[in-house]
Formats: sequence, C-alpha cells, structure tokens
Amino acid sequence: MPEDLSAAIKQKARTLGFDPVGITRAEPSLFREEYQEWIDRGYAGEMHYLMRHLERRLDPRQLLPDARSIIVVAMNYYNDRAEGPGTPVTDPDRGIFARYARGDDYHDVMTARLRVLWQWVQTQAGAHAEGRIYVDTGPLLEREVAQKAGLGWFGKNTMLINTRRGSYFLLGEIVTNLMLEPDQPARGGCGTCRRCIDACPTGAIVEPYVLDARRCISYLTIELKGEIPGEYHAAIATSGNRIFGCDICQEVCPFNLRRSVPTEEPAFRAREVTDQPRLTDLLAMDEETFRQKFRGSPVKRARWRGLRRNVLAALQGRTLQPVSEESAPHPAEQGDAGQQTEV
Ligand code: SF4
Ligand code: SF4
Repeated sequence: MPEDLSAAIKQKARTLGFDPVGITRAEPSLFREEYQEWIDRGYAGEMHYLMRHLERRLDPRQLLPDARSIIVVAMNYYNDRAEGPGTPVTDPDRGIFARYARGDDYHDVMTARLRVLWQWVQTQAGAHAEGRIYVDTGPLLEREVAQKAGLGWFGKNTMLINTRRGSYFLLGEIVTNLMLEPDQPARGGCGTCRRCIDACPTGAIVEPYVLDARRCISYLTIELKGEIPGEYHAAIATSGNRIFGCDICQEVCPFNLRRSVPTEEPAFRAREVTDQPRLTDLLAMDEETFRQKFRGSPVKRARWRGLRRNVLAALQGRTLQPVSEESAPHPAEQGDAGQQTEV
C-alpha cells in the first residue's frame, strides 16, 4: 500500500537525521512564468546554470522516466553558539561565515544519507523501484517541491519557512517512479511583516518574494567569479564582515528568532576556522593551509583566491580606504603566523 510505504519511508528518513520529511507528486512547476521573468530581468546574474536545462528544471518528470513521486527531506543546520540567535560579531576584526558553511559540506553529508535511505526503499519496494538523488545540484526547483511536500512556505525573503522550525534547513530529494502517498502543501505567510526587506544591507529583496541575486551578498561572495563591485564593500563590512554568504534576512525573521533550535548534526557544527576568524588571519593563510582547513567544507567552492577577495572587500568597506591585492599582506611574507587562526 502506498500509504504504508510512505509512512515507513518517512520514519526511516527520520532515523537518518532528516526532519521534516514529506512527499509530493512529480508534476510540472507552477512557477514557469515567474521563473522565466526572474531570469529575463537579469536577476540570476552570472548563474548561467540556472538557465540551462530549463524544461528539465520546470518538470521533474524529465529527470526520470515514469517519475511519479518526490521524497523531500530537510536537515537543520542552525549552529549558533549558545549566546542566542544571530550572535552578532561585535569585533570588527573578525568575519562571519554563513551558518550552512561553518561545518562540513551538506552535499556530502546529505547525499550519503539519501543513498542509505534509497537503498532501504529499494529493499522494501522491490527491483522495479528507480530513483534519482538530488542535493542542491540537479535541475530541480527544490523549494517549490518542498512547499508542495508540506515542508514549508515561501517567505518574503524567498526562503522556505517552516512555521514550527524557521528556515535554517537544507533540502534534498529523491525523484522516484514509485507511487507514494503525497502530503498536503504547506500553508502559511508573512502577514504584514517586512523585517527581512528592511534589514537587507544591499536592498537585494527588490520586492516581496523577489531577490535580485546580483545585489545579494551570498551571490557576491560565493557565486560571482570576478571582483566584487566596490559599491557593495561597505555593506559587506558593516553587516559584520559577511565574508562567505549572508544570513541577515533569516536572522531577523521572527520564525527563526522564536523557533530555531541548534542542530544535533555534528557535521554541521562550526569548525574553528569558520567560527568568527580574524580577517587578517584569513588574509595571511596560504593556499595549502586553505586547502587543509576547508577540506570537505562548502567554503572550498570559493577557492583560496575567492575567500581572499571577500576578505579584502570587507577590509575595504570597513576602512573606506582602497585596499588592493598588492597592498594586502601576502602569505609568503607572513611566516608561520599566517597559518594560525585565532578564535
Ligand atoms: S542574504 Fe543578505 S544580502 Fe542577500 S537578500 Fe538576504 S540579507 Fe540581503
Ligand atoms: S522576516 Fe518577516 S517578511 Fe521576512 S520572511 Fe520572515 S516573516 Fe516573512
């Protein structure tokens, strides 16, 4: 019976650390026009991969022949210190990494667990079961399928918000040919709140539910390949030196302030190097040390040069003095001190 198997899959997923878990049908996106308009306005910036395979992105049935259902899982990554939500960095010499990037790479953590889940499903469902696993990598509009599967609703900051848990969770999916029992879509809303819009330091939430990624610090410090435009340096600095990603529009959200609880997943706890490091220590770090410290971390995506670029942008924004790559201390000139990170 689809109901029995669906309930058993959710139960198994929870034992693997996923929560919440939901199921939806594999159906075409309801946001085709909005998505196309967002791209046409240029809001995706240099994220050209979002424009590729558009039809597959808009219809999960193109990802797997006979796709019928999508199992959607979430993992909480809220990993602040005990001081409380937001834990603002008051020391202007230190930087902030986005919470999802403070521990191990969620792609690795969640993909490995989803493989275990899928193997288990196959033992229950039989040899005809087929599935494809996605963790923020394939052409799948994962927030939309998560909303349909009941995990949360869209906030004005474009994040998926779960009324009982907030928005600090990462998503993964299994698209499968199994006919499973779908959940009800999540319902909820922001009401008159607009804290995230007002708090965004770059005005990237151009209207409720619409993000101009080109202005977003997450895009500027992670996705953008070239130099960060100077007009954003001060925002990166004054927002607490957001040197890899940004959580401000989540930090101010009342659902996070009231409902977020620390993750129980050890892999998502902050490493020493991502726990409010000194900017000068990061700048002094050589490439080999960067590789060691950020092995298995989402930060490696920025590469050593990208992280240096971000730190320089924060320093420039703070001092409002031009700090060029040439005038910055180079690791080769730092000796052993350059390999230490104080916290
Ligand atoms: S992540 Fe930061 S910069 Fe981007 S929209 Fe949210 S508050 Fe604005
Ligand atoms: S801060 Fe307010 S407006 Fe923004 S997502 Fe949260 S509830 Fe919605």
